[in-house]
Amino acid sequence: MEPLFMKPVFQEKIWGGKRLHDVFGFELPSDRIGENWAISAHPHGVSTIENGPFKGQTLDQLWKEHKELFGHPTGEVFPLLVKILDAEDELSVQVHPDDAYAKIHEGELGKTECWYVIDAQPGAEIIYGHHAKTKEQFAKMIEEKEWKQLFTHVPVKKGDFFYVPSGTIHAIGKGILILETQQSSDTTYRVYDYDRKDDNGNKRELHIQQSIDVTNIPSHNPELSVKEERQGTSSIITYLQTDFFNVYEWQVEGSLKCKKQAPYTLATVIDGFAKLVVNEKTYDMPMGTSFLLPDEISSWQILGEATLIASEPGEKSL
Ligand code: ZN
Repeated sequence: MEPLFMKPVFQEKIWGGKRLHDVFGFELPSDRIGENWAISAHPHGVSTIENGPFKGQTLDQLWKEHKELFGHPTGEVFPLLVKILDAEDELSVQVHPDDAYAKIHEGELGKTECWYVIDAQPGAEIIYGHHAKTKEQFAKMIEEKEWKQLFTHVPVKKGDFFYVPSGTIHAIGKGILILETQQSSDTTYRVYDYDRKDDNGNKRELHIQQSIDVTNIPSHNPELSVKEERQGTSSIITYLQTDFFNVYEWQVEGSLKCKKQAPYTLATVIDGFAKLVVNEKTYDMPMGTSFLLPDEISSWQILGEATLIASEPGEKSL
């Protein structure tokens, strides 16, 4: 059994830029690329396998036709989506629904997400939470456009990690490069979009009522309990273990040995150059490489000087 390497899917965005080329060396179809959907089975951008016996097949196809790769899951859809985002400009201030609301109103999963900050310009910040005490106050502050008073701004730097459960008001700010691990969903409710217009002079749609419906009020930003497990000069940092996904940083200085903890594991090389060793076969992994380790692969080794962000399905996603 071989790891499955994924072909990136690029998405043009009003706020995107060229850093996915400048930092990762990807060939980009435009200079406004906001997102690389690195590992995805979502219909808005599906990964294609680049190697081995499944070469040319898509991840959603494998999910339907080769359940053994994923440990015979019960879920209808591949539950995770991994993206790299280049925010050349601010993203809209937004919120996502939970599974129950999304199922009724959008016919898909809710969206809990988390971010690892790959890089941030000096002074970069995100919006993470809000200051309204009640739903009425939240609605009134939106109506009166009291954006400065409403949103909580947080400075960010390289290596920061944020957990963004559904219902959290958030926005990635200008000059930030992020790896996002999220539920496989493309439902975004925009609260505020800086009154921006696209090249055709149109503003993007806002979703005020849905935002009021799904936002957690008052805001409660979760505490993280980060654990580090050292292995010689390398280490595994655990950022999150939730119902939806578990997320890790693999810091490789020389060699890191891993054993599988879930039916399948996803990972992306965000810094350096790594080699993946599986069943005595070695695969070169330049920065930006994304892959999935199927159920049959129970252990692997990573060599080199590199940082990877890895994830697995959580209990609720099996
Ligand atoms: Zn979001």
